[in-house]
Parts: sequence; C-alpha cells; structure tokens
Amino acid sequence: MWQCLAVRDTIALDTKQETCLATMLSTWGKALELRERPTQRPQGTEALLDLKYCSVCHSDVLIRDGYFGLAGGNRAYLDDRGMRPPITLGHEPGGTVIAAGPDAGACPLEKKIV
Ligand SMILES: [Zn+2]
Repeated sequence: MWQCLAVRDTIALDTKQETCLATMLSTWGKALELRERPTQRPQGTEALLDLKYCSVCHSDVLIRDGYFGLAGGNRAYLDDRGMRPPITLGHEPGGTVIAAGPDAGACPLEKKIV
C-alpha cells in the first residue's frame, strides 16, 4: 500500500529539482497563492507525482474558509483540530509516479494514476 505525496503538496516537477510550485492558502477565507516550495522526497509509503492535474472540490472550498461541513449544517473548525494555514488544497490529483519511499512496496513507477 502506498500513499500519494501530491495529496499534501501540489508538486509539479521532477525529483531532481530542488523546488516546485504549490497553490497554497495562507489565511482562512483568502485567495490561493502560487508559491515556490522545496520539493519533498517521498518517505515511508509515500509516492511523488509529476502532477498534471489536481481538482479542488467543494470540500476544499469549505476548508479554504476554515471548516468541514457536517450533517445538519454543523461545522467542524480546523483551528479547533490544530490545522492552520499555510496549507495546500486539492486532494484529487492525476499524474505520473516518479519516485517512491522505501516502504512503498510495488509502487508503480512511471505509471499514470488518478
Ligand atoms: Zn474532494
């Protein structure tokens, strides 16, 4: 079983590059910003993607405003759970696996995934 590193960071470059671009939220409720960040190396069961696309869904829109929507119109505020900006939104990536952590097992390198 392997995990996708691009879920946490919108990485769009190869592993030889020291930096990548990420669309990040700096303050709850504000617009996303394009920022240059260090390229992370996959650890444990993580995989690194050469990201082609990453959707931002309704959950991300609520997270941008600092909460998850719950049944009955209730809200779970991320500040109350210790999650604070800066964060990278988007958790539905599509790209090619270009590197994997040492515990990623049969991670499909060079395979396109969604
Ligand atoms: Zn979603």
